[in-house]
This record gives sequence, structure tokens and C-alpha cells, in this order.
Amino acid sequence: MTETTPLHADVLVLGGGPGGYTAAFRAADLGKKVILVERYGVLGGVCTNVGCIPSKALLHLAHIIHNAEEAAAFGVAFAQPRLELDKVRAWKDKAITTLTTGLKGLAKQRQVQILAGRGRFVAERALEITTDDGVQRVEFEHAVIATGSRPVKIPSFPWDDARLMDSTDALALADIPQRLLIVGGGVIGMEMASVYHALGSKISVVEMAAQLIPGCDADLVRPLTLRAQKQYENVLLSTKVSSIAAKPEGLLVSFAGEDAPAPSLFDRVLVAVGRRPSSADLGLEALGVRLDEQGFIPVDRQQRSNVAHVFAVGDVVGNPMLAHKATHQGKVAAEVIAGHKAAFQPLTIPAVAYTDPEVAWMGLTETEAKARGIDYEKAVFPWAASGRAVGMARKEGLTKILCDKASRRILGAGITGVNAGDLIAETVLALEMGADAEDIGLTIHPHPTLSETFAFAAEMVTGTVTDFYLKK
Ligand code: NAD
Repeated sequence: MTETTPLHADVLVLGGGPGGYTAAFRAADLGKKVILVERYGVLGGVCTNVGCIPSKALLHLAHIIHNAEEAAAFGVAFAQPRLELDKVRAWKDKAITTLTTGLKGLAKQRQVQILAGRGRFVAERALEITTDDGVQRVEFEHAVIATGSRPVKIPSFPWDDARLMDSTDALALADIPQRLLIVGGGVIGMEMASVYHALGSKISVVEMAAQLIPGCDADLVRPLTLRAQKQYENVLLSTKVSSIAAKPEGLLVSFAGEDAPAPSLFDRVLVAVGRRPSSADLGLEALGVRLDEQGFIPVDRQQRSNVAHVFAVGDVVGNPMLAHKATHQGKVAAEVIAGHKAAFQPLTIPAVAYTDPEVAWMGLTETEAKARGIDYEKAVFPWAASGRAVGMARKEGLTKILCDKASRRILGAGITGVNAGDLIAETVLALEMGADAEDIGLTIHPHPTLSETFAFAAEMVTGTVTDFYLKK
């Protein structure tokens, strides 16, 4: 290994995912000399390379397949889809490279220097990067740690068997297993269930909580659960996997729980039981940065760690582990470093499961409102009364809002149905702007759209709704 001349940066960013590249780009735009260190060399992180983007590309295919199947009932029958897995993979990979190439261009335009290799802090203001060619030292004024997270691996499972997968393996689409078991009925589990079901696998989901997507209100998840129960081989709630044994003919899975089924053979098993921060082996002790007991880097509203010149953003600072949280935090960190009075103080961070139907929520959930004894008023507009949803044969959706009982200001919202992930954005804006039910109801929404359901739910709160009959 060779030692090279140290490089110098005003801002050193460790990690090239959405949090890291946003911090780097914003800092460069504010006149800072920025070096971004990314072990894979390619920008985009988990989100672009092995997360949000490839999963959404595959979910797009899943929607096409399901829509085509369902159209038969309305007089438009298509032949069975013929799958060319190589082309599917290539198409998904093209979506990734289009975006990562774009990010590379954005970095170049801003003169953000990207160094490929594993970075490790070696002093309060120095980092060393180990590459195939040697060790490069970078000295810096400020650092932004954006190293993200990795999947939780249940240690007793046979991880040396390629048929046992995490989300990255599942997105690689090595083959289409006949029987796929998904351990964890959270966002990743249910999104990948949609993909593999559309591609032809028989799906079983095992979730230890009493409902799928446990962080979300039960009424919002119900339509997804009903559809999953109809489409999938098995949806096991309040059940755990007690063991997995690798056999030549498949993975033999044993279950535990009151209604646990007998042990069963699966061709592949996907484990999606959460993620944990990537904060080990970064040399944080050389910086003096402290971790909490879960391995997250605690930060204040300026994204500053316990060390004044070290900032952290994204998954590594805590939940929720969402790209849109990371990007906003990245901007805050860069702006604070540049001397701006910035802070990360959103009223809410929306959550979306890009399942079929999509489930999206933001602000106060009803479960939380009850637990905290908050006096709220609720309205649920059923999509069966939405002209647009009826025309799409997707009447199972619902739009729910929670308002403060006295002021009728919006406190939270949840939407289940086609495009709920896009529709939730308006409810977030309403919350951030302090809108009340009257503001929302009086805002003219285009007809016929699914967006109207938000206004109708608000009109249910004000008692002015005419698209639905409210009992006096
Ligand atoms: P998750 O926390 O959403 O879901 C994990 C699920 O596994 C939970 O429902 C949990 O109860 C269950 N579980 C845990 N241990 C189990 C066990 N032993 N047996 C059975 N079930 C078990 O986590 P995830 O789906 O792995 O996603 C990880 C992170 O990635 C999330 O924090 C999420 O924020 C992020 N992510 C978000 C999106 C999105 O926004 N659409 C998509 C993918 C990932």
C-alpha cells in the first residue's frame, strides 16, 4: 500500500446515499470545498442502488401485471404474461444507472470530489480511505456522517445459504421461486411480496405483530391485508419463525405462535425484519463521537453530534429510516456548516408502503392519539363513494383525517388505495401550513380525481359533505 499526499476539504461527507449526496451538493452550492467518500464509488446509496428505486421499478411491473389480470373481468382480456427475467433485470438496472449517472453529473457540475473506498476517521479532523491502490488521507474542517443502515440479520438463520435473502438479494431477482416465505410484514416485506407475487411466486408472509405494517393504524392496513389474504398462500400474523434448516430440496421453516402452521419447505426465504444503523468500524472514537445504545448517532436540530464540527444525517441518526428524511437533514447540516440559521424541525415525515393498495400516513396516527389522550375528531371517506376509484374498480381505498376537536386544524391523515403515496403529499402540506378542515374542504380539488377524497374527508369534519350521507 502507498501513502499519498493528504487532501483537504472544508466539508468531508462520508456516505453517498440521499443524505450524503444532498449534504455534499448543498455545501458545494454554498461555496464549500467538498469531498464525498463512498465505499462503492457509485452515488445513490441503498435508496438508488438496492432500495427505493429498483423496488419501485419492479413494483411498476407488478402493477401492470395485476391491472392486466383484473381487466379481464371488465371485458379486456390479455394473454398470460411471458416473463423474460434477463430483460426485467436489465430494465431495472437501467433505471438505477440512469439515476446514478445523473448524480455523478450533478457532483461534477458542483466540483464535489468523489473518492471511492472505505473511510475511517483516524483523528479529530482526519479520515483515511482504504482503496485497492493504497491509503488516502483527507483532512477536513467539518464532517457529515451519512453512512445509512443495513438489514437486521437473525443470527440463527443459515445465512451462508443463497436461498436465504435480505432485501438486496431479493431485488437482484436471481430467479422466481415457486414458494417464497417473507419474514416480516413491514414495508419491505409487503412491497417485495407484491413484486414476487406478480412474477409468479406463491407467497407466504409471517409477521410477529398482530397486524401487517404495525406502525400504521389498523383500519388503513385492513384493505392491504384483505387483498394479501386473497392473493397469497398464507398471511400469518402473531407468528414467528423459530428455525430455518437448509435442506437440499429447500429451506425447511418451523413456526412458533398460537396458530403456527406445521413446518414447511420453501424455495427461498426473504428476511425483512428491520434495519440497523451502519455506525460500527467508522473510527468514531477518533472523533470523539458518541453512539446511543442502539448504535445511532444522537444529533440536535442542527444535525450536530456531540462533537461541534461533526454532523450526521439519515438512517444513522435514527428512525424513521427514509430517504426523504435524510435529504432534508443533509440540507440542514450543509446550511448550518455554512453559517445559516437552519434546523430540522418538520411537523411530520410521511410514511408510504408502495404496496397494492398503497398505504400512506402522516402526522398523528389514531393509535397515538388514543394513547396520548388527544381530543380529536376523525373522518373516514370511503373510496366506494369516489367516482374515480369506482371507475378504476378500486373501491377498497379510504382517506382518513384527524383534526383537533376545538380548532379543527389537521393533526394527521392516512390514505389507503391506488397512488396513496402521491396523495399523502397534499395532507403533509396542509399540516405544515396549519390548515383546518374548512380550508381543506373549500380548496377546489379537480374532479374526478382521487385527490378529492381528502377534501371530502375534511367536509365530513365540517359537516358540509354532499358526496356522502352523514347521519345527523
Ligand atoms: P419494518 O420495521 O417496516 O418491518 C419489519 C417487520 O418485521 C415489522 O412488522 C416487525 O414486526 C416484523 N418482525 C420483526 N422481527 C420479526 C420476526 N422475528 N418474525 C416475524 N416478524 C418480525 O422494517 P423493514 O420492512 O425491514 O424496512 C426497514 C426500513 O427500511 C424501515 O425502517 C423503513 O423505514 C425503510 N423502508 C422504507 C420503505 C418505504 O418507505 N416505502 C421501503 C423499504 C424500506
